[in-house]
Order: sequence, then structure tokens, then C-alpha cells
Amino acid sequence: METKCMKLLKGMAIGGIAILTAACSDSDDDHDSKAADHGKAAHAEKANHASSNMHATHWSYAGDGAPHAWSVIKEEYATCGEGKQQSPIDISTVTISDVSDIEFKYKSSPLELTNNGHTVQVNYHTGSYITVSGKRYDLVQLHFHSPSEHTIGGKGYDMVAHLVHKAADGQLGVIGVLFKVGKGKNKVIDKLWSNLPTESGQTNTVKNSRINAMDLLPADRAYFSYSGSLTTPPCSEGVNWMVMATPVEISAKQVKRYTDLFPASTRPVQPLNGRVVRVSN
Ligand SMILES: [Zn+2]
Repeated sequence: METKCMKLLKGMAIGGIAILTAACSDSDDDHDSKAADHGKAAHAEKANHASSNMHATHWSYAGDGAPHAWSVIKEEYATCGEGKQQSPIDISTVTISDVSDIEFKYKSSPLELTNNGHTVQVNYHTGSYITVSGKRYDLVQLHFHSPSEHTIGGKGYDMVAHLVHKAADGQLGVIGVLFKVGKGKNKVIDKLWSNLPTESGQTNTVKNSRINAMDLLPADRAYFSYSGSLTTPPCSEGVNWMVMATPVEISAKQVKRYTDLFPASTRPVQPLNGRVVRVSN
């Protein structure tokens, strides 16, 4: 068992993640907390960040509406302060277990981007989904934060894409793809940023242009799995988080293009409160 764990950690180090301590485990506990959270997930109704724009008192990332104040801005946001399974988290201790592979069934989608005042959101047409542990989650939208919300061993990344999926029972499954500044520019981001809506509330529907979320994923599909929440109000819990362990590359210019538009878009990491983060092998 020890040999297996060491081998896995070495593989993760190659993926740029060198800090983890692992409680090696061969126990079959894949489904523990997830199953218990399904009820709560049914209430995680805000799959779409844009809907938050309707609130009269705006939450934000600085000033009066900053993350520490979210829970008191509105009654519906109470979970942001009272919740015990909040996201993002710092992923610094993981348990290696037989986490189910994510089966990706993404198709290309006509390109449509919305600036919702908090981030840029790519609206995804129906028909694309993932299957994980036998459950289907349909891809609804993807959006970005910079710097990344989840940190790995205390280290944040330059940007992150959140691919938001929803299952038939209402549970959300979010895949995080971390971006690290490298030499080259990211082709998918290039396409998106070329059509960036710069005004809050603006939607750009780009004719004869499509995006495939597959092209955003790292080649190595190892991921961190844990039960958390939306990282924006109302901070609903029961979200099945899948953070890809291997970052993908982006150029410094591309990150700057985003942060020029959204200087702050990152909720601080939240207490783990005994939750276990599992990593696939
Ligand atoms: Zn997000």
C-alpha cells in the first residue's frame, strides 16, 4: 500500500502539485458524505451566477459587500456564514482512494458569453454532461475567478475555470480547472477573450463560433473530490466539487485581460471542518 501511495504522490508532483501529505487508504468510502448531502443540494438552486444580479443589495469582493459580510447582506445568504461545508478550501491533506473517474460527454456549444458583473460566464447549450460514480451531471455554464479560489498546499493559482453542472435531482457538480501562467497563450481562452463582454449585464452571442469545454481540460484527469458549496451567495451546500489536480497553461497577458475587467473575484478559503478531500488514482 505504501508503495502505491508513493507512486501516486510522485505522479502528482509531476503535475505541479508537490506538497501533499496523504493518508493512504484502501477503504471503500467513496460515497460517504456525498450521499448525505443530496437533500441539501436540492436547494442549491442558483446554478447560474447571473441570477444574483437581481438582488437589491449587491454582494461583491470588496467594500461593504465583501465576503465576510455576505451572510448578513440578505437572509438567504445566511449559509455563507453559518455553513460548515463551505467552499473554496485549501487542499493540503488528501486521502488517496478509489475515486470514480469522471466520464466526459461534452459537445461543442455555440459561443455565448455573459458579463454578470462578478465574472464572465460562458453559457453552455444542453446536451453536454459528465458521469461520475454512476450519476449524470449536465453542463450548464462555466466561468472564471482570478486568482484561483481553491488553493493547493496554501498556494493559489493565477486563474480558475469553474464548470458548473446540475444533476436531475438538483445537485450541483462543479469541476475546477486551475490555470498557471506559462509561456504560451491558452487557445480556448484566446477565443473567449476575443469576444469578452466588457459591460456588466452584457451578453455576446457570437455567430458561427463554437466552444468545446473538453479543450479546457488538462490531459491528466486526476482530481480532488470533496463536498462543499457555491463560492458565491447564497453559498448553498451539497455541491460535489471536483478540482483537477493538474493545472493548464495561460499567458500572463490573458490573466491580465481578465483582472483588468474583474480586479477581485475570489472568495477566501473556508474552514475544512473535518471534511475529507479524496484524490483519484
Ligand atoms: Zn465559481
